[in-house]
Amino acid sequence: MRKEYKERIWGELDDMKTMCKTGVLFFFIILITILSGACGGSQGITGGREAAVEFFGMNTYMKLTAYGDGAEDALERAESKVAELESLWSATDRQSEIYQINHSAGQPADLSEETKEVISFALKMAKQTDGALEPTIYPVLTAWGFTTEENRIPDEAEIAKLLTRVGYERVEFSDGRIWLQEGMELDLGAVGKGYTGDILTELLKESGISSAILDLGGNIQTIGSKPDGSEWKLGIRNPFGEGSIGVLSVAGDTAVVTSGNYERYFVGGDGKEYGHIIDPDTGYPVDNELASVTIISEEGKLADALSTSMMVKGLAGAIEYWRAHRDFEMIAVTKDREIYLTQKAKEAFVLSDAFGNMEIKEVE
Ligand code: AMP
Ligand code: MG
Repeated sequence: MRKEYKERIWGELDDMKTMCKTGVLFFFIILITILSGACGGSQGITGGREAAVEFFGMNTYMKLTAYGDGAEDALERAESKVAELESLWSATDRQSEIYQINHSAGQPADLSEETKEVISFALKMAKQTDGALEPTIYPVLTAWGFTTEENRIPDEAEIAKLLTRVGYERVEFSDGRIWLQEGMELDLGAVGKGYTGDILTELLKESGISSAILDLGGNIQTIGSKPDGSEWKLGIRNPFGEGSIGVLSVAGDTAVVTSGNYERYFVGGDGKEYGHIIDPDTGYPVDNELASVTIISEEGKLADALSTSMMVKGLAGAIEYWRAHRDFEMIAVTKDREIYLTQKAKEAFVLSDAFGNMEIKEVE
């Protein structure tokens, strides 16, 4: 399973040669020069030793790679941090803060700094996306079996009833304390890994790491450039099957997060596919023209929140949201094989040969 996963997600393509970097936050470079390939062969690590840890955390396979002196120790601390955050945020672990909140029967719950921060961010993004991101979707998610892997199709009456327990506007959150009405439950599934990426980035940088790539189950976060100063090459997952639709070049501290219902879905008795991203308006899994959305941002938590919520909004809604904000880059793949990219994403993206027939469109 690990090998399969690596082939699927881990997107660094070492056999490509690159050029320089510029810019302020994160930079994209067109790979037209791949073919210039003057130097051929694999790149050497000039900035120090490579160290990596691989483990299962937050219900997914993670691989953290860092370069330079002290990389092993820093990665060990990063792995422990993931375990610590998971123990705070798991919706199923009875000891977790989220479990306590979800079972506090209307009583306020006190929270750790990191939990406060992630909840406050999730609520802010819920508002900003008009509820497309809905951190209280958990009761509906459970009814579809996505929390237990015993999938089923709930009937309309059941969904309508469960939706009365959903609504971020009714969460009271102040002075670091949270009140959930009885029956309501939080789920950080859409933002937790992204925020974890931000926390790990900070931790690694504080440990003196200036070059690293973190794969948190498909959420990729980079620190600095590759040790030889070149950009990272990230494969963007093919939502229709194996492999990647193309390669994105990034440098600097950058998060690249992809969401899609292909990640987790089941086939119902009616032959239809039902995915794990729920439209909070209907209580049904999202079923629009989008196959996947990739968000590129300096911040993992923003990229994570937006990749999920742009899937909910659909193509037109996602483009409208981008036009209103313009503080992130986006790659949206439709089920009929069109690919919409914002300008900087387009400049940094090279389509795989196998997807050469995909229609590329720039979002302006
Ligand atoms: P992601 O993989 O980041 O797109 O997040 C998907 C996960 O977020 C699901 O597995 C659920 O745990 C949760 N989720 C599903 N639908 C929503 C939604 N509309 N808003 C917030 N979280 C959601
Ligand atoms: Mg997400």
